[in-house]
Amino acid sequence: MTASPGAPPAGATVYGYPRQGPHRELKKAIESYWRGRADAAALHRTGAELRRDNWRQLAEAGIDEVPTGDFSYYDHVLDTSVMVGAVPERHRAAVAADPLDGYFAMARGTEDTAPLEMTKWFDTNYHYLVPELGPGTVFTADPGKQVAEFREARALGLTARPVLLGPVTYLLLSHPGPDAPPGFDPLTLLDALLPVYAEVLTALHGAGAAWVQLDEPAFVQDRTPAELAALARAYHHLGSRPDRPHLLVASYFERLGEALPVLARAPVEGLALDFAESGPAGTPGSAGAANLEMLTGLGGLPGKRLVAGVVHGRNIWINDLQASLTTLAALRGLADRVDVAASCSLLHVPLDATAERGIDPEVAGWLAFARQKAGEVVTLARGLTHGAGAVESELAANRAALASRAESLHTRDPAVRSRTAAVTDADARRAEPYARRAAEQRARLALPPLPTTTIGSFPQTGGLRTARADLRAGRIDTAAYEERIRTEIRDTVAFQEAAGLDVLVHGEPERSDMVQYFAEQLTGYVATRHGWVQSYGTRYVRPPILSGDVSRPEPMTVHWISYAQSLTERPVKGMLTGPVTMLAWSFVRDDQPRAETARQVALALRDEVRDLEAAGTPVIQVDEPALRESLPLRAGGRAAYLAWAVEAFRLATGAAGAGTQIHTHMCYAEFGDIIEAIDELDADVISLEAARSHMRVTGELAGYGYPREVGPGVYDIHSPRVPGTAEAAALLRDALRDIPAERLWVNPDCGLKTRGWPEAGASLENLVAAAREIRTELASGRG
Ligand code: GLN
Ligand code: ZN
Repeated sequence: MTASPGAPPAGATVYGYPRQGPHRELKKAIESYWRGRADAAALHRTGAELRRDNWRQLAEAGIDEVPTGDFSYYDHVLDTSVMVGAVPERHRAAVAADPLDGYFAMARGTEDTAPLEMTKWFDTNYHYLVPELGPGTVFTADPGKQVAEFREARALGLTARPVLLGPVTYLLLSHPGPDAPPGFDPLTLLDALLPVYAEVLTALHGAGAAWVQLDEPAFVQDRTPAELAALARAYHHLGSRPDRPHLLVASYFERLGEALPVLARAPVEGLALDFAESGPAGTPGSAGAANLEMLTGLGGLPGKRLVAGVVHGRNIWINDLQASLTTLAALRGLADRVDVAASCSLLHVPLDATAERGIDPEVAGWLAFARQKAGEVVTLARGLTHGAGAVESELAANRAALASRAESLHTRDPAVRSRTAAVTDADARRAEPYARRAAEQRARLALPPLPTTTIGSFPQTGGLRTARADLRAGRIDTAAYEERIRTEIRDTVAFQEAAGLDVLVHGEPERSDMVQYFAEQLTGYVATRHGWVQSYGTRYVRPPILSGDVSRPEPMTVHWISYAQSLTERPVKGMLTGPVTMLAWSFVRDDQPRAETARQVALALRDEVRDLEAAGTPVIQVDEPALRESLPLRAGGRAAYLAWAVEAFRLATGAAGAGTQIHTHMCYAEFGDIIEAIDELDADVISLEAARSHMRVTGELAGYGYPREVGPGVYDIHSPRVPGTAEAAALLRDALRDIPAERLWVNPDCGLKTRGWPEAGASLENLVAAAREIRTELASGRG
């Protein structure tokens, strides 16, 4: 590509940056404030320093328009609720008394007020606080935070662009509040919301903002004509106002699709589109290809600014810079001005790959975290403006790194490759049909009707966390640590025997995290030391990186499960994390389809299932809590996803003999569209969350004709509340209306690791008592 002399130079920008600071300074400052160890002034100081450092880092990298307003003490959707005055009635007094404490009250609740509900931000692992709206919601503009942060960046001499969540996506992400009538649609509030957004835009314009970005990612999902009409109305309204900055409407995570022509026609000055995101089927670039195709079909965006998100904003891999330049060259003729960006806010990746010293240098050379991605954006903007020759040394280094990745034995392990290539349909199928398996398992396990069990983890006590920290710090050795774990397993097994549970677990005391534990033992995964990513509020996770071909050098769980089994006559259930979840809660490879990576993980788990079985484990649970959340954003991609997800689960479990009972677990009950896929998993027993939704799921399963055994949760583990025996028994009677007694299990909603022993113990005792009560009723024919 050569420089095009007539075109304006390409700018370099991003939509958001990690908030926490290099050492999670923000988390520490907020938590100190919560504990009363630091005052609000200290917190605000830390916030201001972190924002300044981020902007400087971006500016030094060569980003010429920095984002503002993306910083948050908790969540940017909550910040938007504050900006438009959508404070629920129950939090108003707290907000009026002290805006900062009121803000945290909305986020976390107080003694007597519930927080806002929290849910996942699209298909990321970031959680936002769901706005609560009703017909009585009165919006009022509070541009204070946005204006102040914009001014801070300006004071540093930077060109800044405030980033706001767009009004339509804001409404589409919200839920009806407790006072809203049934069926209330928050979108009906659009006309009331728009003048408030207009006021904020005017305030930012007054403060000197030339451009403001409005994010509308909800439109990368399938939307109804009414929703598309709302989008058109919104931007017609905002675009027609005087005294406003230029508007840049951004979308990311998928192709914009039918919303693209709507926004192309709207009176806004720019669009930001995703040209990096891998498509639903795992085909690299397919969302970007779809955006490019549609944009070309529309004749481009004459007179507008196009911000091209070519650097992948959610993965942690270096970009293929040459491929990005090719995309940019194709875009160049399609708009007045083309700028380069990461595809979405860099909030979803860790801050700086150079902080990682412990990663194999080969793999480290393939990594790009937020700071490195900003650098790639700048390189690409330079290449677009001045021609590829101007960035030849960067391109050469990038080519070499990509080649080393493609040729590495880490990413191409011949043994793994030949094994996945040899997989047959039969491998993904249990040898015996369910009816035969059920009979064999019944004979082997000899369980009472309505058998009781748990989901796997027991309370993770302070002592356990201390032991793990002591081991890491070298204060205790592995032998001492393992003895500590064995003690915990002994106590957990003894408790379960005394409580009268039927299928026991070892309690997972050796696992701090259900994905990390396995990632640490599989080849093909690397761990970071500082790779923190915000999950919600002050909670950060360090997802493992699935960087290479996956194999299992040796058994991962067998010695712990066998130890637990050696302590009791009752069956002990083996516990594994399923392949889909192992991918969903990690950073995955972008150099092969997810389906292929999932198959590799599945085969490693298959080995573990075999070894557990060989060690005499009669029941094995393969958890897939992430199966549903990984569903592609657009319906068009779902069938392909479900096909590989189901295949991976079945490959992991398919080798189990008829007498080995395979359980699975999912922490949700909104199945709707995926119930068929759940059936296709062919698990002998599935446990699900059901307590809070009053067993609604059993009706859905019965309606579908789900043929196997089901354990709908009768104990809500999200609350410290101890459910009484009568309450659990009542839930079981409800379940029995839908599921016959021979196929019903009794268990909590999910694992107990976040609970304390006193309430978990009492709750399980009541759960066993409830099961016994119902068994007695059934035996006497009253059931
Ligand atoms: N077996 C895991 C546990 O009990 C399952 C956790 C989950 O579903 N998220 O903790
Ligand atoms: Zn769960």
